[in-house]
Amino acid sequence: MKKTLAYKPQSAWQIYAGAQERKKMEALAARYIDFLTRCKTERETVDYVRERLSQAGYSEDFGAKSGNGRVLRPLRGKALFAARRGKEPLGKGLALIAAHADTPRLDLKQRPLVEQPGVAQAKTHYYGGIRKYQWLARPLALHGVIIRENGQSLSVSIGEKPGEPVFCIADLLPHLARKQSAQTLSEAFEAEKLNIILAHSPKVEKKAKNEGKDAPGEAVKEQLLDLLHKKYGINEEDLITAELQAVPAGPARFVGFDKALVGGYGQDDRICVFTALEALLTAKDGPRNRAVIFWDKEEIGSDGATGAASRFFQYCVEDLARAWAPGTPASHVLLRSRALSADVQAALDPDFQEVHEKQNAAQLGYGPCFSKFTGSRGKYGASEADAEFFGELRGLYNAKGIPWQSAELGKVDLGGGGTVALFLAAYGMQVIDLGPAVLSMHSPFELASCADLYATLQAYRAFLEA
Ligand code: MN
Ligand code: MN
Repeated sequence: MKKTLAYKPQSAWQIYAGAQERKKMEALAARYIDFLTRCKTERETVDYVRERLSQAGYSEDFGAKSGNGRVLRPLRGKALFAARRGKEPLGKGLALIAAHADTPRLDLKQRPLVEQPGVAQAKTHYYGGIRKYQWLARPLALHGVIIRENGQSLSVSIGEKPGEPVFCIADLLPHLARKQSAQTLSEAFEAEKLNIILAHSPKVEKKAKNEGKDAPGEAVKEQLLDLLHKKYGINEEDLITAELQAVPAGPARFVGFDKALVGGYGQDDRICVFTALEALLTAKDGPRNRAVIFWDKEEIGSDGATGAASRFFQYCVEDLARAWAPGTPASHVLLRSRALSADVQAALDPDFQEVHEKQNAAQLGYGPCFSKFTGSRGKYGASEADAEFFGELRGLYNAKGIPWQSAELGKVDLGGGGTVALFLAAYGMQVIDLGPAVLSMHSPFELASCADLYATLQAYRAFLEA
């Protein structure tokens, strides 16, 4: 890389211009598209990660059997910690990459079923930051689990396979939307109207005396309950103890004539889960003890047992210290660890450039993006990385020819947001945010650059190997 006195970020497309590299880039993107298509919930993501790690010899036994130095620990199918032993003592800390596996979506309410004129619907309570209008008039799939009275768990995924029906929230026709058009977004789109159409046909009584009569009050819901009972063996009460999520139906895709972008649901933050997992699996043996953690609940503030604010990560490190370095306090491991908070950054939006401060905005195709701090309006609620740690990583990536950039989320008094960085910083460890830029973040169809996907994998792997 030629150095000039002035700084300019380097395009990842320029850096990875060779035919061989481009081939690897496309192959990675194709595998990533398959991953995005298969994993639409935190449970599905954790299942996928667990399977890949198990195939690579990672075991849930932190004790004597962790002799091969590869351990994994899932928590309730929604979060997962994994570690690989390095040559240096664990007391020198971990090289850790942390990402989150949950995504904004529509959760079904505990008593979801209602009948309204012509249809039976599922009432929803949205999860995380969505723009409500994006979820109307588009095919939705249902994913999740239903727990029966006897504790038996039933996995649900419907609306993804060819031939399977999908579900949908209807939108108002423009002819009748004149009043709505003049309202603010929050007035025009109410959460209580995000009702998903599940069925339309009423239950018809076969008795002759009912001929010519209208169907009874809740005939569509009754018919739907019959269907659900036939298909899954469940009743309405079973839905109360379910976790059902409505997500955009259909596969992730290449986008553009040049297939240079990946479009799909849930790239915040599954692009970081995918690249961190690939980095852990493909990193060469090295001195550092490495770990990844994939959390749930980031999109709603990281609270809850499977979120970053829980003690799960700490307990994993305590068990790791007991197994790999008896006598070394876990607090030493935590304090001396170095972490990447692997989360996506908002890409400079071509059509809404005015919300960004361009010089400090992330650009698609310029490699993973450092955010020295998060938070908002005067760095409030921020975790801020030390300049020394940032400087070290900059040196590492420049030496390896890995493109990177630096950004903050939007204009100072307009933007802001948090990541899991502060929960790791609470242990006193060094942590900085690093992840690819995403366009249309939190929408049902987010966009990321294939070059950034590839560069992010290189960056995460170099961090683990360093
Ligand atoms: Mn995120
Ligand atoms: Mn997010």
